Amino acid sequence: MSVRRRVFVSRFGARAVALLVLAPAAASAQSTQAPPRVVERPLPTQRTAVPIPTPASVLGFEPGTDRKLPTWKQITDYFTALDKASPRVSVRTLGKTTLGRPFIVAFISEPSTLANLERYRQIQRKLMDPRLRTPVEREKLIADGKLVVLITSSIHSTEVGGILTPLVLADRLARAQTPEARQVLANSIIMLVPSQNPDGVDIVGDHYRATLGTPEEGSGPPDLYHFYAGHDNNRDWYAFALDETRYTVDSLYTPWDPQINNDIHQQGANAGRIFIPPYMDPVEPNIDPILTAGTSSLGSAMSWRMISDGFTGVATNASYDQWSPARQYSLNHRGVRILTETASARLATPIELPFDRLGPGRGYDAREVTWNYPVLWPGGRWGIGDIVKYQTAASWALLVEASRDRQGWLESYADMGDRALGTRPARGEDAWPSAFVIPKAQADTQALHRLVWTLQHGQVEIRESAGPVNAGAATYPAGSYVVLVRQPFGAYAKALLERQRYPDLREYPGGPPKAPYDVTAHTLPLLFGVDVAAVMGEPPATGGIIRPMAEPRFTSALSDRRVRRIAIFRTSRNESMDDGWTRWVFDKYRVPFTAVTERDVAAGALNEKFDAIVVPDQAPAQLARALGDAGAAALGAFVDAGGSVLAFNDASAFLAGALGLPVKNVLQGVKTTDFYAPGSILGVEVNKASPLAAELTAPVPAVWFEDSPVFEITDSTAATAVLTYPATGSALLSGWLLGAPRLNGKAALVDVRRGRGHVVLYGFRPQYRAQSNSTFPLIWAALR
Ligand SMILES: [Zn+2]
Repeated sequence: MSVRRRVFVSRFGARAVALLVLAPAAASAQSTQAPPRVVERPLPTQRTAVPIPTPASVLGFEPGTDRKLPTWKQITDYFTALDKASPRVSVRTLGKTTLGRPFIVAFISEPSTLANLERYRQIQRKLMDPRLRTPVEREKLIADGKLVVLITSSIHSTEVGGILTPLVLADRLARAQTPEARQVLANSIIMLVPSQNPDGVDIVGDHYRATLGTPEEGSGPPDLYHFYAGHDNNRDWYAFALDETRYTVDSLYTPWDPQINNDIHQQGANAGRIFIPPYMDPVEPNIDPILTAGTSSLGSAMSWRMISDGFTGVATNASYDQWSPARQYSLNHRGVRILTETASARLATPIELPFDRLGPGRGYDAREVTWNYPVLWPGGRWGIGDIVKYQTAASWALLVEASRDRQGWLESYADMGDRALGTRPARGEDAWPSAFVIPKAQADTQALHRLVWTLQHGQVEIRESAGPVNAGAATYPAGSYVVLVRQPFGAYAKALLERQRYPDLREYPGGPPKAPYDVTAHTLPLLFGVDVAAVMGEPPATGGIIRPMAEPRFTSALSDRRVRRIAIFRTSRNESMDDGWTRWVFDKYRVPFTAVTERDVAAGALNEKFDAIVVPDQAPAQLARALGDAGAAALGAFVDAGGSVLAFNDASAFLAGALGLPVKNVLQGVKTTDFYAPGSILGVEVNKASPLAAELTAPVPAVWFEDSPVFEITDSTAATAVLTYPATGSALLSGWLLGAPRLNGKAALVDVRRGRGHVVLYGFRPQYRAQSNSTFPLIWAALR
């Protein structure tokens, strides 16, 4: 620990030490900069005795104090000081965040465990992968191993309790002497990530402190709290677009594959006080059922304990589902996922909530006792102290309940390894393919390499075929990439390589569709535009596992050149996540741009500064409010004078109306019972005559459809359909689609000529969460 601590301290400088010494509770602390005055003859192996700092001694306030949020520097100062003082805590820096802050993790366990972490990691590897152990070894590994728990907190920075709860948990674990705490420490290795988004701690905290005492107090910041992804930063657990995702995956998930992930979040204020699993349906069908059952079991034990301890308003089997791997790395990698969602206040500002203002959540009503909401919260004051108390109690319940049965957890963990390699009972696998084949001859080599890199980054093993591979009607040459389904994370690979059939869930029989918690599709071959085929029957003969692919560099004809003057529009308040993802794509492709707001648009003379303006997806009402008629007119004048406007998804519907373009959105006003596609991959036909489609190479052309507009052209002399939904049959390739006939023959991408310029209407998200690689070329083509 001491070596790591030195690295850590040097990175943060001496301020942590100074704060520690100045703080009252640490008044007798020994500074590492001054010679010790008290300890005269330490034993050779004994650390200099430093009192364990309380969080308050470093922050200057108790975690959970109204109207008080810490800076990220204060949090890292606290963990630095704790690492120095407690032999149960070892803090590491995993890298720099997107905006340059240190991303840290605290390993917490018995000192003897921390001193032998690599030994325990090797035990964990062998339990995970049966190829690394013998049946005889298995029992000894289970006897010797530890339960590994990864706690990730405050990925969503406005969920501010999660910024403070990790400090309370760490403090309790560092100083507790109770039998219960001893059991947790003896049986577990806890990896505590105090924030999965350190930049957001300051983006939200700075805004909060700046607006305290003003009418804005308690509001969210105008900018995204993750520079590129905002709230979408927990939709990145299979694409790995963000640096912060990669730190946790590369340094914690991949080396350890923890048995449990505790993911600490907050929800809205007006229903239950906390949600704990079981989740609602649907369940992603490739998740090992041991994990679904384990999540439900541990979650139920946590609720049982919390309710016994007097907590009220505990909801289970509500609101949150177990579908998209974008939100749940652990469930696809041998770990149960215990999401907790505690009710919010107004950031750190308390609220008053009378009982009669409480309402229904999804799956329960906060004013009625039901099996999954067995004790009512009576209403009243709710503040950050309550949030921290609930979150801490839930995480503590998790640690105690899980560590009580360390052996059971390790046994089922080892069982999952055996099942993944095919020595487990069948669970409908007869219908499973034995492998997927990915031929190396693809139209887009960059996309092929990104697919291989993405799978490997999620611990999928890739091999090369020893001979030709038959898959369906096609035969692929020897040397093709092969993903065997029977491998440690073969089910995860299958989830990403196959097409999703989202269940047709309704609010009630014959009623409107039940909205998914997030989106419904995650098929990488369609998103990336790569040809992949399933092999049924016997798996193909292959060579060994290939080495990890170096991450391919994003490149287009516009990369590293300033050929066109490009602006990306954002509203100055409520920046949209799609704006962030758009900037991500432009930055990764190294295509220069200028960010503009409604004020720049209102200033006019846009053609003097720009050739093209990109308007990312945002609610039409927000765009209308920000731009107004004058702003829309300025964009129209820009196009008339030769400029190009690219409008993504809902922004295309807004501009089509605001500029009076010759198209009609045929889904305008259509009820969800008649048409519904809340995040699905749809097939399209390509107008090869259009220059916009010139670089589209996907073997199965597809777009990311998410409550999108669909266009009918009303004047074909002024508008050209570039992508069109098929004239007959269903356009659905992956996910969920109701009312398919409404799409038949309608346009997904329209090039509208106006004056001397163009408006390009994308009735989909061409750069969906940095994942829809196959449609990125549709952006670059419109900017040429
Ligand atoms: Zn959240």
